[in-house]
Amino acid sequence: MAVKQQPPAPHKANALNTAHAQFDAAADRLRLDDGVRAILRSAKRELAVNFPVQMDDGSIKVFSGYRVQHNLARGPAKGGIRYHPSVSLDEVRALAMWMTWKTAVVNIPYGGAKGGVVVDPKALSQTELEKLTRRYATEISIIIGKNEDIPAPDMGTDGRIMAWIMDTISMHRGYTEAGVVTGKPVSVGGTLGRLEATGRGLLYTVQETARHYGVRLEAATVAVQGFGNVGSVAAVLLQEAGARVVAVSDSSGAVYNGQGLDVKPLAGRKAGGAPLSAAPGLDRISNAELLALPVDFLVPAAMENEITGENAGAVKARFVVEGANGPTTPEADAILAANGITVVPDILANAGGVIVSYFEWVQDLQFYFWEEDEVNERLHRAITRAFRDVARTAEQHKISLREAAMVLGVGRVVEATKIRGIYP
Ligand code: NAD
Repeated sequence: MAVKQQPPAPHKANALNTAHAQFDAAADRLRLDDGVRAILRSAKRELAVNFPVQMDDGSIKVFSGYRVQHNLARGPAKGGIRYHPSVSLDEVRALAMWMTWKTAVVNIPYGGAKGGVVVDPKALSQTELEKLTRRYATEISIIIGKNEDIPAPDMGTDGRIMAWIMDTISMHRGYTEAGVVTGKPVSVGGTLGRLEATGRGLLYTVQETARHYGVRLEAATVAVQGFGNVGSVAAVLLQEAGARVVAVSDSSGAVYNGQGLDVKPLAGRKAGGAPLSAAPGLDRISNAELLALPVDFLVPAAMENEITGENAGAVKARFVVEGANGPTTPEADAILAANGITVVPDILANAGGVIVSYFEWVQDLQFYFWEEDEVNERLHRAITRAFRDVARTAEQHKISLREAAMVLGVGRVVEATKIRGIYP
């Protein structure tokens, strides 16, 4: 029997450094004592697993995966699962920490977690993907559960993968446990509106940003980096709301039309598996050129550490609204601020996904499902309230929206930690 070890993952700039720098700044501002600072700076629980999958050709590959629970002070842990070749423990730690602050900023009763497997899902057959998912779910089943830790989709995973995880856990427990993951198809306990939730939350964030800063969305231009689940939905909804989406990109490249792209057919083609570079009859620009377009709203919705100390000086947008988690490094943040560019931070702008995941979980626990309008209205209320809380905090303390979101989020977790006390 041939045994193949997965090659080591190519490594990107360390997202954990970004997450730590953002936390340290908030901790200084909140004057946290060393003890509380130490609790919140590291993850509560980290599980690393190496597990075999029998491939279609009969060979065995060993894959590495992680599940990190950063903090549980405000409720069960919540966070997505990423399938990507560059997943690393440090990246998962950073993403888990951001989930803690995000659930706190939008005030839903969760802690933060994240999971990942080092794999290129596009290189696997459906059978291999299902086997990998069911084995990874089994490996992490010792720490996930509807009251403990509730995964959801992230890059490289989708509703079908969530259904396999739900089914695997249900088979182990002997009964259907719908509330153990969110982002499931509606037929197995998913909620209406979840697929679009992160993109829809971005739309509401952009609308609220426009209202707050006196920008007319109907006259505004938008560029979106990353045309996946988050970016493509955001682009379509922003265009439907009247904005002119002039450029979108995926890992194959970017397409541009100064008069505005017709985004919906592009999203349809992309959902069918066609890369943007194969879209006929459109001007192409590089991903670097997209980031430097003079638009009103730049929406990075690809990966972390895309806007860095090297390229931030080229950004000419008025607002950067973060669809991805951690797309802007602290060096880039400083450059953007010095150039008068307002950043609407990830833990606020892309929280639509986790808010609607919360609604899905509540519906699963109650076995009672809502209409889509109700989901979207509640999402709108939650995002709008969070935006106004963050904007008010920023004005009160004369700080950036990111610092304000961190102060609010970290502050709420500190309050829960202190009021619960240190066990035993
Ligand atoms: P996805 O896999 O559906 O899409 C990612 C897209 O980015 C793909 O089109 C890919 O080709 C593109 N991409 C990758 N690198 C790129 C680059 N350098 N330049 C341009 N495009 C590039 O993933 P997703 O679920 O849309 O997640 C995107 C980001 O949003 C991630 O940071 C994720 O953590 C974050 N996020 C996702 C959700 C969710 O509900 N899915 C919720 C909150 C945050």
